Amino acid sequence: MESKVTVDGLTFVPYITRDEIRRQVSRVAEELRTDLKGRSPLFLCVLNGAFMFAADLIREVGINDSTINFVRYKSYEGLSTTGKVKEIMGLTEDIEGRDLVIIEDIVDTGLTASMMVADLKKRNPRSIRFVTLLHKPESSKTGFVPDYVAFSIPPKFIIGYGLDLDGKVRNLKDIYVIKEEE
Ligand code: IMP
Ligand code: MG
Repeated sequence: MESKVTVDGLTFVPYITRDEIRRQVSRVAEELRTDLKGRSPLFLCVLNGAFMFAADLIREVGINDSTINFVRYKSYEGLSTTGKVKEIMGLTEDIEGRDLVIIEDIVDTGLTASMMVADLKKRNPRSIRFVTLLHKPESSKTGFVPDYVAFSIPPKFIIGYGLDLDGKVRNLKDIYVIKEEE
């Protein structure tokens, strides 16, 4: 793990290691495997941020009957939420009667999550489960509570393992948090 990462003039320090990520991904995968027993779920990876988490999680869950698709929403510009959620790429697949597992990178205000769930519910899936790598409960503006959470964290800006700063640093294998002013 790098001791610090600098991007666009901001400094980030180590926060969650790849080993800890792997452990929590396994735990969440185990819970999902139990809860989805006998089902053929449809995993919905929310792009862009969740691609790395989804790839690791779906392999760990290991249900050969499952299918995978992608949706894309955007709400952040730089370090903060715009307060508006844009659907950039919607779902064309028929989800009626399917057991959906939405996979997100992070739930912050909960705006994206609650909008997405409301939208998908209208298409009559059999069930919806919401999984997130990270949850910032103190930032909630909607009361949205994810069903599965790998890490619950304070409301600080983080990067790595799929999470970006204006599109950059998604490649990092570990998670870093923005350095506090000294
Ligand atoms: P929400 O709609 O406010 O819950 O925002 C969710 C989206 O904001 C996530 O899917 C991320 O793309 C982005 N986001 C929120 N917090 C962070 C962060 O700390 N780092 C990077 N992206 C974030
Ligand atoms: Mg996202």
